[in-house]
Amino acid sequence: MPLPTSRLSPLAFAAALAATVATTASAAPWRPEADFSKAPVYVATNATVPEVEAARLILRAQAMVAGGEDPLTNAVPAVATNFPSAGIVVGWQGSALVAPLAKDLGLVDWYEAKPKLQDTVVQKVVGNTLVVAGNSPQGAYWSAGDLLYRNGARFLHGGGADGEDGTFLEYMTGLMAPRDWRHQPEALIRMGFNCRCGASKLKGAERDAELVARNQFAARNGADATGPLNGGRAREWLGVESIQPPVNEFKKHPDWFPLIDGKRWRPAPGSGWEWVVEGCWSNDEFADWVVENNERRYQQRGGSNIVAVLDITNSDGGRRCECPDCVRLRASYPDESSCYFDYQTKIANRIKARHPEMRVEASAYIMSRPYPKAGNKVLRGIEAVEYCPYSRCFIHPYSDRKCPTNKADLDRMAEWKKADLPIGDFDYMFDVFQPPMGLPVWELAADVVDYWMDYNRPHRMPQMFIEAAVQGGCGSRSRIAAYVFARKLWDASQSADDHLRDWCRVGFGEGAEPMLEFLRAEAAAWTNQPVHITACFNNPLGTAKTFMTAELAAKGSNAFDRAEALLAAAAKGAAPRDANRIRKQRAALAFERKVFEEWTSLRAKALEAAMEVALELGEPDDKGFDRAERLPLATRRKASPDGELTSGTVQFYRTADALRVRVTSNDPFFKPQEWKERRGDEGRFPWGFKPGSMELFLQAPGQSGYRHFAVAADGAAYDAIAMDARAIDSADWKIDSVQRDGLWQLTLTIPWRVLRMEEPPKAGEAFHAVVIDTAHRRDAKSGDVVNCEIGLPFPAAHDIGVGAALVVDDFGGRRPDEGDTK
Ligand SMILES: [Zn+2]
Ligand SMILES: [Zn+2]
Repeated sequence: MPLPTSRLSPLAFAAALAATVATTASAAPWRPEADFSKAPVYVATNATVPEVEAARLILRAQAMVAGGEDPLTNAVPAVATNFPSAGIVVGWQGSALVAPLAKDLGLVDWYEAKPKLQDTVVQKVVGNTLVVAGNSPQGAYWSAGDLLYRNGARFLHGGGADGEDGTFLEYMTGLMAPRDWRHQPEALIRMGFNCRCGASKLKGAERDAELVARNQFAARNGADATGPLNGGRAREWLGVESIQPPVNEFKKHPDWFPLIDGKRWRPAPGSGWEWVVEGCWSNDEFADWVVENNERRYQQRGGSNIVAVLDITNSDGGRRCECPDCVRLRASYPDESSCYFDYQTKIANRIKARHPEMRVEASAYIMSRPYPKAGNKVLRGIEAVEYCPYSRCFIHPYSDRKCPTNKADLDRMAEWKKADLPIGDFDYMFDVFQPPMGLPVWELAADVVDYWMDYNRPHRMPQMFIEAAVQGGCGSRSRIAAYVFARKLWDASQSADDHLRDWCRVGFGEGAEPMLEFLRAEAAAWTNQPVHITACFNNPLGTAKTFMTAELAAKGSNAFDRAEALLAAAAKGAAPRDANRIRKQRAALAFERKVFEEWTSLRAKALEAAMEVALELGEPDDKGFDRAERLPLATRRKASPDGELTSGTVQFYRTADALRVRVTSNDPFFKPQEWKERRGDEGRFPWGFKPGSMELFLQAPGQSGYRHFAVAADGAAYDAIAMDARAIDSADWKIDSVQRDGLWQLTLTIPWRVLRMEEPPKAGEAFHAVVIDTAHRRDAKSGDVVNCEIGLPFPAAHDIGVGAALVVDDFGGRRPDEGDTK
């Protein structure tokens, strides 16, 4: 529309001009300006599957807008040989219909885009024709999904879990298009795993890929890069976990494998963990094999049309080679991270020399998470780094700077700024519990996106992996959070609560109001837990106690009942179209209820298994231990595996000034060590999980989070607030160690002031404690002596919620008991 310039002040004219310029550059707001609800939909003669599927989705939406009862699933777009004079054209810049316009539309091939691999989508009216386009076949699909979203359609979840795919076209009121809109999403790469850990009703990877793609998201595992939804052009990763020697070559090339305890070692074939092995980095033949193996994979996967990123990641754990050359090699660097990156960049640059179009990425993972001390000279040729924040706290957002668990990870992440590279995120939010549980973490998800956007300004967040909300597992249980992740990565302008409200409005229909109220309360309860949870595969039992309180459980049952009643009432006498919508909403509600009830039934189990111990008052001498109950240390599974077992006990009592704890370990393989007491251990806890160490996780009454005390059998000691070793009070707690063959008894005296308590605990108050004894046992099958963790109530690092309650005894003194004649 031409502006009546004569009536504008010079300043307003300049602003209007700037707005016009901004439109051609990007970032004009999306405004509904032209009606295409009845327009025919076209694709080119050379259309790829994603373009055809995108056009079909638009046809379904048009049918719904026209008052259709059921979405058409068999609609087929028209094929045009020439650009139509009116209608909707769907295509990427390789489409015969879009190619002549590509330059005007600003569609640039991924490899030539700046930054490389940047997505661009366009919705633009040319004459009387709406062009729905992207700079990849999948991008054309994303553009169509976006167009429908703007018109009220929602694609709430990947689905399968509740028998529905979460497609809601019913809330569309029309199919309006902007005159000229161009969008480059916040995140350069938006990608998730298809988690296959749950039962699936879906029919294959392509269907899953389509479901997540509607929210402008791409799936990684299971979605073949050459598969239909990628249209023969994808951003496949090359090299992920391919720096490892192949287990089936062990007999032929044992020297490619790490030397461990004097022997070349490989994981057991068929164990499912074959890739968790490091190569011998001093073996040139192995390095040559890695380069050639990557070349083979590159060719197999379709070469430069498909493979866009080279990402050599170290193995998922595994021990390093101890051959003399590897030991010397590592010692020649200031830290392990430097050694790792130097080795990796040498390999990566050999591969890249053959395929210069590929973007080279490195992972900051396990051995390479800290920024390398050798600096950027060991990062030569790396174009982006993907940080793996699995040590973050999954309870508190990054923006809550009070959480010490997060602080450690945030500090490590911040150090990576020195690399002056785009840093991405490999999110672990859906890997927290085993078994997987639903997490109300949409606020945390939005916070992660905001954090990385801010971190990478002006680059923006370069990439993000999450587990997509498909196919069971944690992904679908946490599908509201997964949805918020996907939406925020596309367009960060809306908050988590905006999306939650939207999810409830569409997903629960008439039942939205009670559900929104409950889900908000649930998210608040999650973040207000007095615990920190980090790392992967935690036992959710303790969290069931601290998160799903009796009050929240009652609120939840009530909300689900009310929402179901409201939907049932709305279903009565509903027209077929509404009846169909309500059927989907009741399925969504039933699924969310199931996820909620997994928590409430776990809570009941946790309360049943809860351990409560009286914390009696005694004297500072050790006589208190003669009286204190001996609580058995248990394995995680309670039912012990076969074999020669370590057993042990733990005892607690209190004095006027301190908590006293005694752990007695009957480890048949324990050998006394030379005791040389030293505190702090350079602020690290490097010997955790090694036999001959004991840990105490302790939460004082009224405090959130936990204290972590640890002692090794050689006298190394450590004390931290949660994982923050900088807050230590090491000198003030006392350690006594008694050791002989097959026995280690550790006695700790922890003054109240070390626990930052201003006064002694009062009757009825409770401490929560988890104790871990890392010892040995003999494996019944192999006969090998293996590591063995036992604990109270069982080994559960970081999860203080499961801890035994030490209730301050209200007797206020010695309890008279049998045999006590004094
Ligand atoms: Zn070696
Ligand atoms: Zn925390």
